[in-house]
Amino acid sequence: MQVFETIEALQNELAHIKDKSLGLVPTMGALHQGHLSLMKQSLKDNDHTIVSIFVNPTQFNDPKDLEKYPRTLEKDCKLIEELGVDYVFAPTVTEMYPEPDTRVFNYPPQDEVMEGKYRPGHFNGMCQIVSKLFAIVNPTRAYFGEKDYQQLIIVKRMVKELGFDIEIVGCPILREKDGLALSSRNSLLSAEERKNALDISGTLFDSVEYAKEHSLKETLGYVVNRINANTNLELQYFEIVDADTLLPVSDWSESASIIGCITVFSGTVRLIDNIKYKS
Ligand code: AMP
Repeated sequence: MQVFETIEALQNELAHIKDKSLGLVPTMGALHQGHLSLMKQSLKDNDHTIVSIFVNPTQFNDPKDLEKYPRTLEKDCKLIEELGVDYVFAPTVTEMYPEPDTRVFNYPPQDEVMEGKYRPGHFNGMCQIVSKLFAIVNPTRAYFGEKDYQQLIIVKRMVKELGFDIEIVGCPILREKDGLALSSRNSLLSAEERKNALDISGTLFDSVEYAKEHSLKETLGYVVNRINANTNLELQYFEIVDADTLLPVSDWSESASIIGCITVFSGTVRLIDNIKYKS
């Protein structure tokens, strides 16, 4: 496996394989099985796979969050190598942003709701880095997790509107055996916080059963009340939305494809998750 830190060295190498299919898995490192599941899919679909590891400062609206984001490059590279990935791209911040990136991306309504509301500038920064990576790597396919469902929808829209010839592949959420969605941020949870965090996926799973017999509004109330009943958790939002527009729906019959998206703090750790009600 080859690890590149500069765009020039990476592109020199990629020039040799330009007739082959190439899968890109963009990550911020602190890798876990969820990331690895994206890589496994890319290895299956493509001749070559490249993983990028870059904690992108422009997508963090909270400097403290950026500071405490886990960084484990050496361990990450070992994991990736064992899987059979060909290339890692792990640039420095100045390599990616020699000048401040002043580009502005607007994808309403998808980038305005939920994470867009609570993390102003987050999706703009995400589009800055993902579009740069796409331009540098020019992959055949790029892999994104459904865990960050809103991100996946916005990336698909960006690719369409900017005319990138890249297939965006969405991969299912990987969970711990007990249901907790795998996340780099889970490593920041204390044992007690992790136990409380389990209520998030538990509530979402139970809400799917509940939804079979109840209205959408009742289901919304069920999730909100159950999370609020755990005084160690702090609900930021739970919304039941159309899976394409990401706008709230008020009745199960209103859309063919419906998803519930949630963000909850367990202690100071911000966790996101989602569940499909209709697809
Ligand atoms: P991150 O390093 O958190 O930016 O995540 C990199 C990619 O891995 C994103 O496309 C995420 O959606 C995806 N990912 C993170 N956690 C999971 C998970 N539990 N299951 C599937 N994909 C995931």
